Amino acid sequence: MNQPVSIFYSDDFVVEGAFDTIGKAHELAKLLNESPITGTTMVSPSPANRADIVSVHDEHYVDEVLNGHGGQFSGDDESATSVLASTGGVLRAVETVLENGGCAGSLSSGLHHAKHDRGSGYCTFNGLVIGARRALSLGAKRVLILDLDAHCGGGTKELIGLLRDQNIDGIEQVDVSVSSFDQYHNSSFAQLKIVGASEYLGTIENSLAEIVDPQSIDLVIYNAGMDPHEKAGGVTGITDRVIRQREAMVFEWAKSHELPIVWVLAGGYSGGSFTKRDVAKLHRITVEESARVYAEGATN
Ligand SMILES: [Zn+2]
Repeated sequence: MNQPVSIFYSDDFVVEGAFDTIGKAHELAKLLNESPITGTTMVSPSPANRADIVSVHDEHYVDEVLNGHGGQFSGDDESATSVLASTGGVLRAVETVLENGGCAGSLSSGLHHAKHDRGSGYCTFNGLVIGARRALSLGAKRVLILDLDAHCGGGTKELIGLLRDQNIDGIEQVDVSVSSFDQYHNSSFAQLKIVGASEYLGTIENSLAEIVDPQSIDLVIYNAGMDPHEKAGGVTGITDRVIRQREAMVFEWAKSHELPIVWVLAGGYSGGSFTKRDVAKLHRITVEESARVYAEGATN
């Protein structure tokens, strides 16, 4: 039985006038309100709290950010509110699909470069690993983070490794990038490939096919970056069509193994004549394909 895709968003996610990473969620929410996608429903999440964040990040760093003195944006109360709200979006999406199956999303971004004790590359707290950690504490045994942002998820790799050092395992990463930023060495739990436009879709297809025993995965968290796109910060040849094929491939693969999946926003940048609204339209493709694959026939 298919269910609607819950999309978690609150205006608290957004810091007005901030760079694209935390400003674009509002643009996408507007787009989704103006012309809603069948099979989706918008939900306002409760925020994350300090305990959620320190489950993977250094306490001192977390407190600095929550007191308005750290993170990847100018320090004030609004930024602490924003990062707790958007991390809350990921947590509620994770809880929803673990309970009900299916697919949910959060209009959160700025996640995969965040390290244990510092922000990096516009990312303050790593919502991917915080979400995966929550899934483990709710009983999941195996969580896959699939990262298709243009850049490598070095923060995620570091945090998964630190959890494993504390005997908290069960989180793994598959990462296909088009840039070497935040690159890392492959390990048993994190596989990175850096490719050009011509091998892009084929590499993703192979990476998914190589995942051993996929039906044993309890949750997929998908970092759906739009910055591989040729106009949004990526490489020539990755077009709207390629992005749509990518999203279809990811959701169809997950659905074929009946895996619960959560998507979040990631990179994707405006510039020149390519506006913030154009970036939001790219992210809308993720929402459309997730609803087409996961919510077909569902009623809101
Ligand atoms: Zn990126």
